[in-house]
Amino acid sequence: MTGSVRLVVDTATRIDVGERRVTPASGGMAGYDYLIYAFGSGSARPGVPGGADFAYSAATSEEVQRLRPVLEAAPATAPVTLAGAGMLGIEIAVEQAEAGRPVTLVSGGVLGPYLHPRVRRSVARPARIGVSVLDGPGATVTAARRYAVTLGDGRELPRAVTIWTTVFGVPDLATRSGLSADATGRLLTDETLTSVDDERVIAAGDLAAPSSVPLRMSCQAANPLGAHAADTVLARIAGDRPALIEVGFFGLCVSLGQRTGTVQLAAKDDTANRFSTGGRLSGKVKESSYTGLLEHLAHEARTPGWYSWKFKDFRRRQRLRTEDGAAHAPR
Ligand SMILES: Cc1cc2nc3c(=O)[nH]c(=O)nc-3n(C[C@H](O)[C@H](O)[C@H](O)COP(=O)(O)OP(=O)(O)OC[C@H]3O[C@@H](n4cnc5c(N)ncnc54)[C@H](O)[C@@H]3O)c2cc1C
Repeated sequence: MTGSVRLVVDTATRIDVGERRVTPASGGMAGYDYLIYAFGSGSARPGVPGGADFAYSAATSEEVQRLRPVLEAAPATAPVTLAGAGMLGIEIAVEQAEAGRPVTLVSGGVLGPYLHPRVRRSVARPARIGVSVLDGPGATVTAARRYAVTLGDGRELPRAVTIWTTVFGVPDLATRSGLSADATGRLLTDETLTSVDDERVIAAGDLAAPSSVPLRMSCQAANPLGAHAADTVLARIAGDRPALIEVGFFGLCVSLGQRTGTVQLAAKDDTANRFSTGGRLSGKVKESSYTGLLEHLAHEARTPGWYSWKFKDFRRRQRLRTEDGAAHAPR
């Protein structure tokens, strides 16, 4: 299939689903026949006293550019605190420790909530990550100040730099535009990724909440969901019935410094199991997952329809029926 693409580099501020048009921040209008709602996710604001002033998010390149000079200006031995021990928190913490800084990772409960306990124990070994991990119920940052953070159990930690990686937030464009979203703000869709309100709006990536049971925010899901969203649009244009999603997972890679990492394996429904690999090979797997993503996108652009996802979760629909007793029929 051939066609032309008009690229508009701008921020969408509103979707008018009645008129089928998007309002860009710089003004004007962009009309559509079908809209793919794929604005992704970003850092949620640190919602604790002092968080907005004294804690730095690190999910986007803009945030990293703000953080970098702060870290560079701090003395080499200045203590760094990470609030949040998901994969992003672990990866940043280990890299900072590798750079020679004393690092404390405040887990908010448990290190790497996704990880199987056996794999978590292996990742958490201080000799492996070089980071001091605080976990348990009180290990939550409740306030940030310039040179300290306060924890839920009342402890005070002197800090030079506090990095915030607790949860990801999503844009509120769906709800502001009158489209139904889940409690997090992800667009509610059926299993073809079509909005429950409007069959001209199709979601993909981190912002899709098919049947209110979204997949984990990840490139692993976003890539096949993106391809599926495109197939849904093509099917609708052709007057065919769009296919239902069958996106499954294989696990998760976490890098532990520049050279090594852990690959946590999982069932296709994204439940972590007791198996993992470690060492340099896993570091390489992580690295190649980034380069692989770009190669896939480039290959797909050259050969449309080439991309396909091998890890299919054929049991998703069965689980959905069991979970809420109602099949989420495609529109
Ligand atoms: C630091 C970091 C590391 C990660 N590492 C991994 C990993 O190792 N493995 C993994 O599986 N996942 C990882 N993820 C998650 C993964 O990157 C996301 O799940 C994935 O990129 C989501 O894809 P998406 O297409 O939904 O959104 P995105 O890739 O976030 O793309 C959304 C795009 O929409 C644009 N946008 C947003 N709002 C608007 C607007 N109003 N108007 C116009 N454009 C807008 C954004 O600028 C962006 O270009 C990581 C995420 C982060 C932040």
